[in-house]
Amino acid sequence: MLIDTHAHVNAPEFREDAASVLDRAAAAGVKRVICVGYDLPTTEAAIELAEQDSRVFAAAGLHPNSVAEAPGDWRTRLEVLARHPRVVAVGETGLDYYRDWTPPEAQRDAFRWHLELCDRLELPVIVHNRYADDDVADVLLRWMSSRPGVGAPGVLHSFCGPMEMMERCVAAGFAISFSGMLTFRNKSLQSLAAVAQYAPETSILIETDCPYLAPEPHRGRRNEPAFVAAVAARIADLRGKSVEYVEQLTWKNAHRVFPRLGEADGA
Ligand SMILES: [Zn+2]
Repeated sequence: MLIDTHAHVNAPEFREDAASVLDRAAAAGVKRVICVGYDLPTTEAAIELAEQDSRVFAAAGLHPNSVAEAPGDWRTRLEVLARHPRVVAVGETGLDYYRDWTPPEAQRDAFRWHLELCDRLELPVIVHNRYADDDVADVLLRWMSSRPGVGAPGVLHSFCGPMEMMERCVAAGFAISFSGMLTFRNKSLQSLAAVAQYAPETSILIETDCPYLAPEPHRGRRNEPAFVAAVAARIADLRGKSVEYVEQLTWKNAHRVFPRLGEADGA
């Protein structure tokens, strides 16, 4: 029983064949897929998929790179979408200083707004972070110090930061999600293997972030949720555990981080 905690089957890349992509995922043992919105249209599309398919859940968010181009009333509209019963998380939100389509200050404002929405709706957050370790940690730790909610605060998705960033975030209660990047053999990603090896067991999640970042041996192709098995296999290899063990572990962790998955299961 695998769960892909971060997929964009709601993206235009899957417009033609989303249903067969989800069937292939189920055939590969991927019984749950969280479709993550990155703007208003893709959040709507994620909810639509989740309404049609009981294996699919949605997350409602505006990617930091998309803040500048979003319509002026995006906050009101996103909050309405986030209240849908098939939504299990707020996001993706966060900070991305690699691209400068949205000024950093506007990204931080939007990020903090998403966290306030988490508090209002009692939902966890899905955090995107690129070249912004210190500011992401700063915003998240400030939030945690004033956060009224109980339960897991959320996840740093497609994690590729250093060990120290993992430790800071795990200490604050966040989960760490590994994507296909973990299967790449680039030298620059060697430290990521060490992070996946030493991250506390209860903090680990897996994802594809499809259609991007297809894991080995699918690298270079369009990624899809069925390939999340390759990420589980790599973690099992790094940690000296069986694949079944990692599947069960990440399944259980996902249900703790995203409690609404369990409510839907009747668990
Ligand atoms: Zn994503």
